Amino acid sequence: MGTSCALPDREVSMSESRAVPPLLSRMVAIGAAAAALLMPSSLTGPASAAPDAPAGSGAAAEPGYYLVTSADRQPAVLAHALERTGFDVLEGPMDHGVPVLADPAAVARLQQRGLSVQYTGPLYQPVSRSTRADTNTYYGGYHTTAGHEAHNTQVSTAHPDLVKLYTIGQSWLKTQGRGGHDIQALCITKIQQGDCELTNTGRKPKFTVMSQMHARELATGELSYRWIDHLVNNYGTNTDVTALMNSTELWVIPIANPDGVDIVASNSTRPVAQRKNAHDNGCTGTGRGVDLNRNSSYHWDVNQGTKCDETYPGTGAASEPETRGIQNFLATIYRDTKPAADFSAASKSTTGAFLTVHSYSQLDIYPYGWTNQLAPNNNDLKAIADAMARANHYDVVHGDGGLNYFAPGATDDWIYGQLGVPGYTIEVGPSSGSCGGFFPVYSCVNSFWQLNLPAYLAAAKAAAAPYPTGR
Ligand SMILES: [Zn+2]
Repeated sequence: MGTSCALPDREVSMSESRAVPPLLSRMVAIGAAAAALLMPSSLTGPASAAPDAPAGSGAAAEPGYYLVTSADRQPAVLAHALERTGFDVLEGPMDHGVPVLADPAAVARLQQRGLSVQYTGPLYQPVSRSTRADTNTYYGGYHTTAGHEAHNTQVSTAHPDLVKLYTIGQSWLKTQGRGGHDIQALCITKIQQGDCELTNTGRKPKFTVMSQMHARELATGELSYRWIDHLVNNYGTNTDVTALMNSTELWVIPIANPDGVDIVASNSTRPVAQRKNAHDNGCTGTGRGVDLNRNSSYHWDVNQGTKCDETYPGTGAASEPETRGIQNFLATIYRDTKPAADFSAASKSTTGAFLTVHSYSQLDIYPYGWTNQLAPNNNDLKAIADAMARANHYDVVHGDGGLNYFAPGATDDWIYGQLGVPGYTIEVGPSSGSCGGFFPVYSCVNSFWQLNLPAYLAAAKAAAAPYPTGR
């Protein structure tokens, strides 16, 4: 599954159904069991109000996760139809129904169509009142765009020997003179002559982590925040970190979609489920914007959605300033070692690695995501994903992952297909429970971090020589 996000990170394709791989079957079984446990007697909404719900907002007013089924349509067909009519169809196993994020009005519309709608859990978790005061955080501790920017400035100022901070592009609102943000990237290493320059001639291999391209995937930006702190705070004391920073440039783009994160954080206890950027295309609510993970210039696909859809790919390849900034940056720091043809292998001498972090589904995804055909460096690409999975115990998938969803125009495919750099997606977190979905309880970030730090390290270490076999 090229790049999922338990949502319409991928489009439903109408292609022939494929067998679900064993690993995925296991995931499906676990997910179904969890969903069954969570299912209350009411089929229309949460059985009781969230403990911390604002006065006057009954449980029925809260959005939640649902499984939608039809008596006469296969899930993949139903998913496609729902997405085309404005529903927020989530990526994920569909053998118990099409996962949908819906508010009560959307639930009513589904029921009016004669569809069966089963509630599986709330979008929002309770937020402790004591954690609401900090202006740079929201929803119990998640950092706003401004909070990340302050952090980036703080670490680069405090550690000039270890960190360089760059502006690599602008958000859509900034290009319009309507506020917005620069897109920031940090380079973290033990800085020697020639390190952390915006060139592809540096002597150290480069590993880049990018997060929160989909703004509502809250946990992912926090993992970058902790990755940055882990590196700068442990240089010289932790053997692994010291060796890595002596040998490798660790680049981080903590917030790839800053305008989107501003929208998400505009409600500190009930974040807005904005996935796309803030490109004002006349759509209301979270329909506004372009899906930046469908907007790359590699296998950009006009058929990924119309403008109000969650997977709307934009008016053309790299139509969005965020996409152009990120692509230009990556093409500047990495050497291009791959012929343009999709199935021509990247050189064995390639260095570098790239990781884009999304949520949720507990997956380690490797190229390609636009096709089920194996990438020409498949064995080496998969070996790195397997090393990540030994750390975080997520399922390793590529292509459509057996779910009939492809993700053309995604960043991980772009960096591999365009430059030959191995590109990965981690889908952090489970689909249900208080740590599930887009908006986990903030304390869940602790467990995500413990689980995924060694996966980040595995990918970072692979940057020195990612293709040992050349196959
Ligand atoms: Zn995502």
